[in-house]
Parts: sequence; C-alpha cells; structure tokens
Amino acid sequence: MFDLGIVKGKVYLDGKFAETNVYIRDGSIEKVSDEELDCERTLDAKGRLVLPGFIDPHVHFSLDLGEFSSRDDFESGSRAAAFGGVTTFLDFTRPIHNHDEALEAIRERKKEAVKSCVDYSLHLTLGNFSGDVEKLVGICREEGLGSIKVFTAYSESNRRCSYEVIERILKKDILLMSHSEEDELVSPVWDEVATYEESRPVEAEMTAVERLCISASSKGRLYIVHVSSGSTVEMVKDKFGQFLNRSIFLESCPHYFNLSSDLYGKENGRIYLMAPPLRSKDEVKKMKENIGFLSTVGTDHCPFMKEEKLKYERADKVPKGIGSIEYSFSLMYTLFGNEIIPKFTSSPAEIFGLRKKGRIAEGFDGDIVVYDENISREIDGGVSKCDYSVYEGKETRGKVVTTISGGRIIMDDGTFYGGRGRFIRR
Ligand SMILES: [Zn+2]
Repeated sequence: MFDLGIVKGKVYLDGKFAETNVYIRDGSIEKVSDEELDCERTLDAKGRLVLPGFIDPHVHFSLDLGEFSSRDDFESGSRAAAFGGVTTFLDFTRPIHNHDEALEAIRERKKEAVKSCVDYSLHLTLGNFSGDVEKLVGICREEGLGSIKVFTAYSESNRRCSYEVIERILKKDILLMSHSEEDELVSPVWDEVATYEESRPVEAEMTAVERLCISASSKGRLYIVHVSSGSTVEMVKDKFGQFLNRSIFLESCPHYFNLSSDLYGKENGRIYLMAPPLRSKDEVKKMKENIGFLSTVGTDHCPFMKEEKLKYERADKVPKGIGSIEYSFSLMYTLFGNEIIPKFTSSPAEIFGLRKKGRIAEGFDGDIVVYDENISREIDGGVSKCDYSVYEGKETRGKVVTTISGGRIIMDDGTFYGGRGRFIRR
C-alpha cells in the first residue's frame, strides 16, 4: 500500500513525458509504473503535467534592510512558494565580514527558517570579507552549506568583496555565487527614477561577469546570480562557452524576461526598482533568444509593500526588490514551454547538490507539481504578504494545480493545507 498515487498524468521523466503513475511512500517516490497499485490516496492527474517540484535557488525572506524589511517571512514566503509549485528554496544568511561570524549567522538563519512549509537550504553571504577562507569553507561544510555568495558592488555599504578573496574561494571546493556589477561603474547615489537603469548600466554587469569568468576558467565553480541583460549572456557564451553549464552557471529572473526599463518612466515607476535594474526592450529580446544558455531561474523574491516602495521619491532611497515566487514558473512556461522545466528542477538540483531533488525517479523526494497547461490564468495579488504584484492582470499559460512536498499534498486547487519543510544539507 502506497501513501499517495498520482495517476494518469503526463509525467516528466528526465526530459520526456510519459503517461504513467507515480507512487509515493514515506515521503519518497517509490515507484513509477503503468500498473494500478493500491494507495491510501489517489490523485487523478489526467490531462495534466506531473513535474518534479520546482527549486528556487534565490529568495530573500525577512531580509533586513534597516528601515525596511522584505515583506514575506519564511512562513508566508514558503506558502507563496507552495502556490507556485516551489518545493525547495534557497535563502541567504546576513553578510558576514570574518569567518568567526559565520557560525552564528548560519544558525540564526536556520532558526528563522524552521517555519517554512517546504524544504529549504541556505547560502552563506559575505560582505567585505577579510577573514580566513579555509576556515570559512570548513564551517560551511560542517553546517551543510555548499555555496558562498559575494557582491562585487555595494562598497558604499561595506558589502563589496575583493576579487582577491573571490579568487581564494574559487580555489576551494565550494560553489561561488556572485552578484556581479563592477563597483566603479555603479552610481549608488541616484535621484531620478525614470533614468535609474543608467545608474547600474549593462556595462557594469558585463565587466564584473567577465572578470569573474576569467578567474573561474582556471579554477573553481562560479554561479552568476540574476543576470539582467542578454548582452551579458552573449558575452559569456562567446568567450567562455566551453565552461558554461560545466563550471560557470548563469541564473536569471522572470522580471528580466517579462518587464523592461521603460516602466521606470511611468507613473509609480518606483514599484519596479530592483538591482540590477530592468533593461531595455532590446536587451529583453536578446535575453529571450539566449534562454538556452541560462542554467537556472531564480526569483530574487524580495517584495515590499506598495506604500514602502512609494515612500521616497529618490530612486536610491526606495527599497529594491519585487516578489514573484508564486508565478515564476507560469511566467516562464508561458514564454518558453517545456524547455524551461529543467531550469526549475534538475539543473538547480545538480548545481546546488540537492541530491534527492529535481527528478521524478525512484528514491527521489516526493516533491511533485501537477500543472494544468491547458487553462489560462490571470495573475492576481496572490497569497504573499505583499499587497501588490507587478504582474497583476497578466495572463499566463497554465497554472499550478497541486503541490506535493515530501509526499504530502500541501496545496490543492487553491487551498493551502500547511506543511513542514526541512533544512537540506548540501
Ligand atoms: Zn538577491
């Protein structure tokens, strides 16, 4: 007797669909079979896609920015994740400047994250780091964190990490993630919202990414978070193509495909402010043409209330970030169809060492999404604690109907049943 059977759906098995049944017991996928077997509970998925649970490698729940804090905490953010079919997310610690702050930063974040209703893991974040890299990597390993995130910008808030430290990390057996904008090419003091993109130009991203890729092409594993421009993807493809998806990985976000910088000139353009900024329509077009070269899609989910986004007139005073975890897959599926599935599943699982995630196969975690591709959905305010979505009113192809985490149905047909996420060691 199995706990749960997801039957008659179009099941995504390593890149191909097969009409078959998936059987789960004790939280894991135990059998994928055409046979009809006994189950305590059966979910009829006829005509629907049965996909591995999605992995969002980049979220910021309860991110403390001083005056503002990102609106979703681990509870509400992971609930929004469940509605979006995301069954594993990766968040970040606060930035640390020395290895001796690492343990506390990791443990304090783990404590906050226990409220999550889906599985999660963490990246360690560095500020302007001047500690012992060897010891730092050792602590990450012991605590089950397989990735370290740095910023090449934000010297104004003491978060810029030197290229020298970055090179030392690349020599270690750990994934280096980078927010890549060349510090000298960024203007952190910026008044006008309409021209905000000029304060963080495409050249700033391309310069930093190129420097990092040069370092990573001799040693290490490099993951560029939230690539914002098609030109950057093309540059990496042209100059470092042989490393792409082997030791160099590119992540981008739904907003760099769905929104463009002309929105900054519109009324309330401030609600679209994030870093790196939205890009021109030409860059968005180039991004779409190069989707095949991106490894993953992360949301950089970091929403603030409309009132908070609109509190200050000056671009540099507005809290940066938007939310999209609830819609990320639908938005990207609408644009790219089945091609996008591995970027939400097997690819982030492999890059981040989530060994039992990202595939529907015997022995993998019972994390499954049932997706109806045949209905269209208009995006609404959603279940996030944030009171608006930049995507409100947008039509998407398909909808997440059911989300199963660790073998339990946590969301079905718009009803949330609650869940208990676990910290996944990597
Ligand atoms: Zn981020």
